[in-house]
Amino acid sequence: MIQELTQAVLGNKTFTLERFPLEQKTRSLQAWDSADEYLINYVEEHHSELNNIAILNDSFGALSCYFNDKANTLISDSFIAHQAAKYNIEKNNLTSANLDLLSCFDLPSSEIDLVLIKIPKNNGLLAHQLAKLSQVLKPGTLVIGAGKTKDIHNSTSKAFEKYIGEAKTSLAVKKSRLVFAKFEKQAQDTPATIKWELKNTDFTINNHANVFSRDSLDIGARFFMNFLPQTKKVKSIVDLGCGNGVIGLTTLTKCPNSEITFVDESDMAVNSAGLNIQQNLPEKLDQCTFMQNDCMTGFDAESQDIILCNPPFHQQQAVTDHIAWQMFIDARRVLKVGGELRIIGNRHLDYHGKLERIFGNCKLLGSNSRFVVLSSTKEKALQS
Ligand code: SAM
Repeated sequence: MIQELTQAVLGNKTFTLERFPLEQKTRSLQAWDSADEYLINYVEEHHSELNNIAILNDSFGALSCYFNDKANTLISDSFIAHQAAKYNIEKNNLTSANLDLLSCFDLPSSEIDLVLIKIPKNNGLLAHQLAKLSQVLKPGTLVIGAGKTKDIHNSTSKAFEKYIGEAKTSLAVKKSRLVFAKFEKQAQDTPATIKWELKNTDFTINNHANVFSRDSLDIGARFFMNFLPQTKKVKSIVDLGCGNGVIGLTTLTKCPNSEITFVDESDMAVNSAGLNIQQNLPEKLDQCTFMQNDCMTGFDAESQDIILCNPPFHQQQAVTDHIAWQMFIDARRVLKVGGELRIIGNRHLDYHGKLERIFGNCKLLGSNSRFVVLSSTKEKALQS
């Protein structure tokens, strides 16, 4: 069963491909999909002569492995996607030495003859990425998008037509579709960040394209804000899964002497959080650290007083609680004895049970019809 889930037959090659993070409890999903297969087969059949490939949004490295000898650039907003690509490339005895791993803000520096882009669900991210490409592509460069038919809309073709050139879509195969366009436009700027006022404050929140709840304040976050810690003491606090940083930003107004570390696996989230502190509380910038990371990997044990978290409950398209679990387990390690993890969650997710199991205690701080705010304390040091 596990082998079936990791043995990927792509085109004429076979790879072992793992989803990331490796420790995730939900292992019933594959690290590649039918859009990867369709894209690979199409390129092999029609464009096998093209080298210098840029790959965008490769979830776990399937495309990076397949095109290992031709790809020079891998662009993703996700820390986990970059980690997964590196891991799977090495696991298959390939090399990542010639592959530039770039964020969505970077411009590729290598020559590009073909672009392969897994179409993100988020059209704003697609527009951002195509605009970035428009700044570096040579006229005539072929851009091929691939995605699930349900994620390819008129707006997808429109984004291609705005930034790249006339777009054509393929027939659907195994519920996936390809989009083709040749670059024939001028270089264009990326769309501006989405901004909104944070109610009852003077703050304006900036959101880069791929940020969670970028169009308005998440209703869970809004409820959580009623239960944030308040103290004048110096505390070390983590805004874990910070998104645009609204939780950490608001916490800084209630804990003005604290040091806050904003952590997210999305580079656009971390950058948005940075921008939001810089623009709204510039005098607190020195008290803040911004970090792209998978949960709290690499944090020193017993180093933090408080961890605040509105956990994610999906990864890529899959609904899952494994990231929340990992965040809670990391929190227990990273908290000082006496330190507190405070979270918000949907009632039906039973975070209460999970926290009881991990910490041995869990207090309800508040609830409404949809959400609960929970607090667990680290009562003793972990055995080493
Ligand atoms: N704190 C923000 C708020 O309340 O609006 C965002 C909360 S959102 C529910 C969860 C966040 O966790 C997202 O920004 C997502 O990118 C981030 N995330 C997902 N997986 C992660 C991981 N493995 N490590 C760190 N952050 C992750």
